[in-house]
Amino acid sequence: MLTAEIIAVGSELLTPDKIDTNSLWLTERLNAVGIDVMLKTVVGDDEARLEEAIRHALKRCEVVVMTGGLGPTEDDITRRVAARALDRELEYRDEIEADLRERFRRWGREMPEINKRQAFIIEGSRVLPNPNGSAVGMLFESNGKTIVILPGPPRELKPMFDDHVFPHLLDRPGAVIARRRIIKVSGMGESAVDAAIADIYRSIEGLETSILFNKSEVEVRLAARAETEQKADAILENAAGKIAAALGPAVFSTQGESLEEVLGKLLRSRSETLSLAESCTGGMVARRITEVPGSSAYFLEGAVTYANEAKMRTLNLSPGTLERHGAVSGEAAEAMARGMRERTASDHAVSITGIAGPGGGSEEKPVGTVWIGYAGERGVRSFKLLLPGDRYLIRWRASSAALDYLRRQLLKA
Ligand code: ATP
Ligand code: MG
Repeated sequence: MLTAEIIAVGSELLTPDKIDTNSLWLTERLNAVGIDVMLKTVVGDDEARLEEAIRHALKRCEVVVMTGGLGPTEDDITRRVAARALDRELEYRDEIEADLRERFRRWGREMPEINKRQAFIIEGSRVLPNPNGSAVGMLFESNGKTIVILPGPPRELKPMFDDHVFPHLLDRPGAVIARRRIIKVSGMGESAVDAAIADIYRSIEGLETSILFNKSEVEVRLAARAETEQKADAILENAAGKIAAALGPAVFSTQGESLEEVLGKLLRSRSETLSLAESCTGGMVARRITEVPGSSAYFLEGAVTYANEAKMRTLNLSPGTLERHGAVSGEAAEAMARGMRERTASDHAVSITGIAGPGGGSEEKPVGTVWIGYAGERGVRSFKLLLPGDRYLIRWRASSAALDYLRRQLLKA
């Protein structure tokens, strides 16, 4: 397994205003060719510290990627310091200067003399052209190490990496491809998921699995490594199939989709429509549904009926239901779903009523009590949840539970 280290250069990356995002993007790309990132460093425009960082990186990892500090100004030190750390000279390249002059001419400007600095490259390195900016990149092999130096602006770095560095890394002997996939699970905890699938993923060669809980759902993250893309994809396909079979309907996607995307596909494929009556989620479910492009094909209407008044006026709840059972009850949730379905003539209607807190809870109905209601062709039903978390999490989890409840109703029908 090859290992890499990323060094992001620039004092602005050490201020509260600016974050090193290049390394996240680079990590994804390096992982894709089977290279693990072991360490990341952010260094200011400081010659001694940068030199030290580069020397350390070369001792630790086979691949060192640097970004930033290739501009023409005095504070752009990467070129000079990298040469020193690698015990190499800088050499001047006529053709880079000619290119730069031509580029400035096209912009209708004269090249400032300081840009000449950008025509110096570390001796022996391959020049990586930069069609999107003035700083060329550099790549070279030295003592079994691959060193890559890229400009800081993401719109310059990304195409340069994809056009020149990625193919180079792919080309090396023994290179492996890594492919990833996320299986999403709802209605099960992390440990239950792990217990159900550990034997499966442990027995598959070339597969790395991690399981994590993300607010309201469990993600099973798969990474497969093989010599070719096809082989890596075959490993993922096999693993995803077995895991989905073991977990059954709790799996809502084997392709990393969101719950609302999956629901959209289901409703669309059946040409069915949906309406929503929300109380404690305040429209969160409607927002999630309508974030999916094309949702107008199946989503008819959502009502935020917060006050009892609104539940009666908009959804036709009877004062008796609210008096006898309260607004947070199975009876109210069912009446809300029924009322919304009648009002909109949708195929499916989902309702949510609950106590998101922090106030408003009681012994009988503590904070986190949420009822989800459903009305469809086959009748009306509801179920109760007791959700942990603060106000935001309770609302988010209630919205996920409602989406998932609807998904499961659709699977049954
Ligand atoms: P230039 O020729 O544009 O000066 P450069 O290689 O010197 O290129 P920097 O001056 O270090 O690059 O950075 C230019 C801009 O690129 C920064 O202002 C910042 O917006 C962005 N940038 C630099 N490094 C990073 C990083 N690691 N992550 C995200 N953005 C970055
Ligand atoms: Mg710069």
